[in-house]
Amino acid sequence: MAGCLAARVLADRFESVTVVEQYERPGPGERRRGVPQENHVHLLLVRGREILEAFYPGFVAELEALGACSADLSADIRCQHYGLWKDRWETGICAHYCSRALLDRVARERTERLAGVRFAYGTKAVGLAAGAEGRVRGVRVAGARPGELEAELVVDASGGGSRAAKWLNEIGFRAPSIETVPSRLGYASRIYRRHPEFAGRWKVLLLLPDPPKTRRLGVVSPIEGDRWMVTLGGCHGDYPAPRTEDFLRFAKELPSGELHDVISRAEPLSPVSGYGMRGGVRIRFEHASEWPAGFLMIGDAISRFNPFYSQGLTVCAMEADALRGRLERGADPAGADALAVQRAVAAASEPAWNAAKSEDLRFSADGARPIRLRLLHWYTAHAARAAAVDREIATRSLRVTNFLDGADTLLGFSSASRVLAASVARSLESRRPQT
Ligand SMILES: Cc1cc2nc3c(=O)[nH]c(=O)nc-3n(C[C@H](O)[C@H](O)[C@H](O)COP(=O)(O)OP(=O)(O)OC[C@H]3O[C@@H](n4cnc5c(N)ncnc54)[C@H](O)[C@@H]3O)c2cc1C
Repeated sequence: MAGCLAARVLADRFESVTVVEQYERPGPGERRRGVPQENHVHLLLVRGREILEAFYPGFVAELEALGACSADLSADIRCQHYGLWKDRWETGICAHYCSRALLDRVARERTERLAGVRFAYGTKAVGLAAGAEGRVRGVRVAGARPGELEAELVVDASGGGSRAAKWLNEIGFRAPSIETVPSRLGYASRIYRRHPEFAGRWKVLLLLPDPPKTRRLGVVSPIEGDRWMVTLGGCHGDYPAPRTEDFLRFAKELPSGELHDVISRAEPLSPVSGYGMRGGVRIRFEHASEWPAGFLMIGDAISRFNPFYSQGLTVCAMEADALRGRLERGADPAGADALAVQRAVAAASEPAWNAAKSEDLRFSADGARPIRLRLLHWYTAHAARAAAVDREIATRSLRVTNFLDGADTLLGFSSASRVLAASVARSLESRRPQT
């Protein structure tokens, strides 16, 4: 995804853009080896969708024509979080649900049609070609036509497996430091035929953890072809193995039996796929003292997030949009502005990284969390509980998690007073004698 979006932006500035992809162009319905995460639920957040629509006018209509389903993020979602079922009503904040493969296909086909853009499939990038005076002058490739592709600017969009640190070392640069947030998470997913019985009740069933007590999630999410993508996951080692019996057992052990009920009745259409990840990783470009002109990184190559928060694709879009902004203002990543542009691209994903990191640390022991973070966790847990019943807080939370507003929205007086009022009301309610 990041490669297509970068190509889309660069095509406005450069005469020709080549997208180098290690595998062959996928045929219809073919699983892609380079993107194994596509076998799991992929939600494109609202900000990400807005950017994709701006980059490729008609993108959303094309998704819908190919079977993506629009869902109001409150009215159409049956969601349990912090042990509470959320109230549901029309917010007008809608997301499109489909498979990751479909999102990538539409973005890829739109990018392939751009003037000046060409795709080199079956071509693997294996290193950088160094030019004079500490600049990159191309990329070394293996595959059908091994050799060197000369370029004014090389963009690494090779995802979480990026070898940029090694490549930089090979041409005499010290790679920037990295930050990690261990979370040892795993997903297991299976595709089912959508069962008509549930159609009128909800479009998405979402069971989120009650942290730090529980670390598991489960989601039934619509994808094209009248199917459901069902994903179960958890962190700190608490996730299912990619085996049918483990999948069903894990679903049964979730705090609500609803998801298990759904998959017990629906017809499975695929085997169970698994995915494991050690945790979040982010390159800290602000600590970089040197950086070659003519080289940029984008997408998962810069940072990989805990997928619980559905941020990765939107982050790719926000970074590409930041690159577009810098280029429009005349910055030259192929020359003196290389590090400044790289920092601006990475800065676009800083809010997402901070939010994901903060949530991941919620599962750490008290002693490992500074007092400020513990206070933030206390407050945001109460905000999430308030969002189950308070429509204003729920709407503000949706706008923040979809990157339509900044996190400050939930921290101001007006939000804090509502969150605390909801918390007091819940506490009084729980003390009322049961009849
Ligand atoms: C289980 C799981 C669930 C997720 N769910 C969501 C979600 O709900 N919402 C969301 O927004 N994000 C989600 N994400 C994150 C999302 O998948 C990533 O953020 C996104 O794929 C990043 O895109 P990318 O283009 O940077 O990298 P990738 O999608 O990994 O693409 C990298 C591409 O580079 C190619 N490549 C790699 N190395 C080379 C090389 N040397 N030469 C040539 N080509 C190469 C690969 O073949 C591939 O095509 C999830 C991630 C996981 C693991």
